[in-house]
Amino acid sequence: MTRAPSLSFILLLLLLHVSVSFADSSIYNTFLDCLHKNTDPSDNVSRIVFAKTNVSYTSVLENYIRNARFNTSSTPKPSIIVTPLKESHVQASVICAKSIGVQIKIRSGGHDYEGTSYVYNPPFVILDLFNLRSISVDIQNEVAVVQSGATLGELYYRIWEKSKVTFTDFRQGCVPLSASEAI
Ligand SMILES: Cc1cc2nc3c(=O)[nH]c(=O)nc-3n(C[C@H](O)[C@H](O)[C@H](O)COP(=O)(O)OP(=O)(O)OC[C@H]3O[C@@H](n4cnc5c(N)ncnc54)[C@H](O)[C@@H]3O)c2cc1C
Repeated sequence: MTRAPSLSFILLLLLLHVSVSFADSSIYNTFLDCLHKNTDPSDNVSRIVFAKTNVSYTSVLENYIRNARFNTSSTPKPSIIVTPLKESHVQASVICAKSIGVQIKIRSGGHDYEGTSYVYNPPFVILDLFNLRSISVDIQNEVAVVQSGATLGELYYRIWEKSKVTFTDFRQGCVPLSASEAI
């Protein structure tokens, strides 16, 4: 016969949940306040920071989880997810995470097998670079400048556009890995 959990145990769990939620919301408020101070006011950076209470938090988190083993209810989740739109947002995020003493995990495509870009001991922040995926290809000088959120498919396509060189002999060409792997 299974015993019903005691009231004190349930209260303890409830207390733990409330204190974790409080810590997450405190990180969100402090981080956002700092981000506002370190970015251009016209950037409206509140739209790039996702708290656990934000309706889009789960979809933003899951969009770049490539290994389902790290997408369970027991997988540690970030207090906030920051999705920079330009380089200055990355710089400000690093400054702000450092100032509040919280670990940053940087995610380009989330393709590594161990989930190292989105799993850590809480509290932590994900700096998700999926918006930073521009690619410029200079065929004449044989130089390509690629932001790390771009996928290899996007990179190969842009090179093909300029040179008509195909990459069918590249093994990675058949999977949507991030370009940061190739750099
Ligand atoms: C199907 C499959 C095939 C693969 N094939 C290959 C292969 O052929 N060759 C190969 O070398 N690897 C391969 N890998 C491994 C994978 O590509 C690497 O782990 C690579 O790091 C993933 O790149 P990502 O940009 O998705 O990085 P993520 O998974 O987002 O991050 C990987 C690590 O790099 C850090 N990081 C990410 N972006 C940045 C950044 N901009 N600045 C600083 N740190 C950052 C993260 O915090 C994390 O610790 C394969 C993986 C899969 C799933």
